Amino acid sequence: MSNTLEGKVVLVTGASSGIGQATALAVSKAGARVAVGARRADRLKTLAEDAPGEVLVLELDVTDRQSVQDAVAATIERFGALDALVNNAGVMLSGMILDADTTEWTRMVETNLLGSMYAVHAALPHLLASKGAVVQISSTSGRASSAASGVYAATKFGITAFSEALRQEVTTQGVRVIVVEPGFVSTELASHITDPDIQAMAKTMAESMRTLQPEDIAGAVLYALTQPEHVAVNEILIRPTDQT
Ligand code: NDP
Repeated sequence: MSNTLEGKVVLVTGASSGIGQATALAVSKAGARVAVGARRADRLKTLAEDAPGEVLVLELDVTDRQSVQDAVAATIERFGALDALVNNAGVMLSGMILDADTTEWTRMVETNLLGSMYAVHAALPHLLASKGAVVQISSTSGRASSAASGVYAATKFGITAFSEALRQEVTTQGVRVIVVEPGFVSTELASHITDPDIQAMAKTMAESMRTLQPEDIAGAVLYALTQPEHVAVNEILIRPTDQT
């Protein structure tokens, strides 16, 4: 097994915090040149200072198709190729369906689902050229839905559907598609929930267990990306041991 990404180019969306930030750092430590995208460019600049390797900072809003296309083009212009796209940007605005603020639904669908589709669309010609990989950060909510997570889960189920079609379309051309499904990870994700009761439930749940850390997921991504070319790790489900 190759344990290095030396010479490879990796684009990570949603790299300004949490799983994306940890993944960008992990692939940089493994030798990759990394393009990092998110809306909070100041945080990406700090990440670029902390990373051991070359980092390209991209102000990116994945809900804006042009912004996604520009980010991929800038990555190619700077590094000349793209070997892996880590489609990580996401929001979780959990809440009940009755009386929901549907603008939150729009935001989740546009960010988690359409945004990641735009990124695949823009990156795919380059990934076919490099026989690269797409890492889709889904969720345990992409395997099972539950009360107050209907729309978030719908976006993650959608990622699974899209990823399987993508896999069938490109795998024989050497592009690997990897779906990563984390359980509870300690990040900023739940802090954006606007319903105070659901927010409190998420906090109680986090306090009831030893949650995963972003680095745990980064390690899983790195594992998949460093397998030999004939090995496609198509799915990784990774939960905290304490999570039922
Ligand atoms: P964070 O909130 O820490 O990170 C989310 C990242 O997404 C940030 O970098 C944010 O950057 C970025 N982002 C949000 N909206 C946009 C946008 N429109 N354009 C570009 N970037 C955007 O949460 P996590 O690290 O936990 O989440 C990362 C992924 O992991 C998500 O897809 C999430 O669904 C998934 N996940 C998380 C789990 C958890 O328990 N934490 C469990 C399972 C899956 P910025 O605001 O600067 O744009």
